[in-house]
Amino acid sequence: MHRQATIFAVSSGHGRAGVAVIRVSGPAAGRVLDEMAAPRPKPRYAALRRLTHPDTAEVLDHALVLWFPAPASETGEDMAELQVHGGRAVIQGVLGALAALGGCRLAEPGEFVRRAFENGKLDLTGVEGLADLIDAETAAQRRQALRQADGALYRIYEAWRQGLLGAMALTEAGIDFSDEPDVATDALSRARREIEPIAEAIAAHLDDDHRGELVREGFQVVLAGAPNVGKSSLLNALARRDVAIVSDEPGTTRDVLEVKLELAGLPVVISDTAGIRTASGKVEEEGIRRALERMRAADLVIWLLDATDPTAPPPHLGVRADRLLIVHNKADLLSGRTRTGPAEDALSISAFKGFGLEALIEQLAAIAAARIGDQEAPALTQERHRQQLLRCRAALSSFLAGRIEEAELRAEDLRRAAQALGRLVGAISVEDVLEQVFGRFCIGK
Ligand code: GDP
Repeated sequence: MHRQATIFAVSSGHGRAGVAVIRVSGPAAGRVLDEMAAPRPKPRYAALRRLTHPDTAEVLDHALVLWFPAPASETGEDMAELQVHGGRAVIQGVLGALAALGGCRLAEPGEFVRRAFENGKLDLTGVEGLADLIDAETAAQRRQALRQADGALYRIYEAWRQGLLGAMALTEAGIDFSDEPDVATDALSRARREIEPIAEAIAAHLDDDHRGELVREGFQVVLAGAPNVGKSSLLNALARRDVAIVSDEPGTTRDVLEVKLELAGLPVVISDTAGIRTASGKVEEEGIRRALERMRAADLVIWLLDATDPTAPPPHLGVRADRLLIVHNKADLLSGRTRTGPAEDALSISAFKGFGLEALIEQLAAIAAARIGDQEAPALTQERHRQQLLRCRAALSSFLAGRIEEAELRAEDLRRAAQALGRLVGAISVEDVLEQVFGRFCIGK
């Protein structure tokens, strides 16, 4: 694929900035430096050069340039990096000059990473880790993505895959020696012994309470309660910015609004829902239906009560008790009155006056941290990983439960299991998976 073409793109963000980084990858990368920034610097050392247009010799900028000869580069190809001043005209001038050089063209979205993948610099989970790193908004997301980009998941999955390939060779030997039953049985039972710990490890890896996905997608908290208890006000107070419309009229929060927060380094997504009560119109009914749907899918539901008139959550919510946090709002109105409702340990807050919010945030962070658990152990981070691992586990279960004498069927089980892991790391080429993974990148990545 495009091996002959040399590609280039602005890899830093767009818009005015002090510095812009233009990367060039492919066989002409060295020539780019020779013709525009001679003399070519020592590999992997930065050098200050005048960047000139190859045709007119006009000086375009003073830039810091680097030379990364293949294969020790990010893409595995010859690469040049030009750190230019980040002005629009400078960037346009340099891109124009690069386009004027023969064999160079603008990169397509994700093309740098794709070349790195094709040259074996990254496996598919590493590519996904890199995409997540670019998207990371919280410290926990950054740590998880960096680990994945570094190959933490790849090393685990590849070790399993190699184990499966070894067991497959033994099973094939069992087939080859089918006229010598002792040899065949021995090879097949050895294969079984090798598969057992791998099947257990995969099961344990899958049984992870979705912690990797929780970090990647955020811990989903849904604010719910009767109309007018102060859900929008609380969301606003939490976000410290105006995202939800606060109004005195019951039932105005018809749609679902979200705020992303970083609590103790963890991503927490809080969404507001329509008040749960008997709907008075079609739109509101739809809002309530969506609210219930989100509550059931949430990692945590904050059931907000009006402290002056607390009513228990209705029993039909369908939310697990351990995923429900009851919070009493409008506690500012209680002063001078006898507190009837709130139990001793229930949180009392005032979205209005802002008190109790720190305690609520602390509790949210603690609940999210407890659910995400050990953040050091690498965890699968996407549904795509889960699907392939489930397929692998099913095939291994079939292998372990199946009749050992049916060696051909057992070999087929292992082939299916290894294929699932192959799709996971990208060791077997599968165009549909590639499109899905690389589609997330933009130009210059
Ligand atoms: P929602 O329908 O549950 O989203 O409730 P809103 O956030 O729209 O609030 C309903 C009304 O209660 C508004 O008039 C708010 O100003 C008021 N309110 C919200 N939180 C508090 C609070 O902590 N104390 C007091 N006194 N009023 C509040």
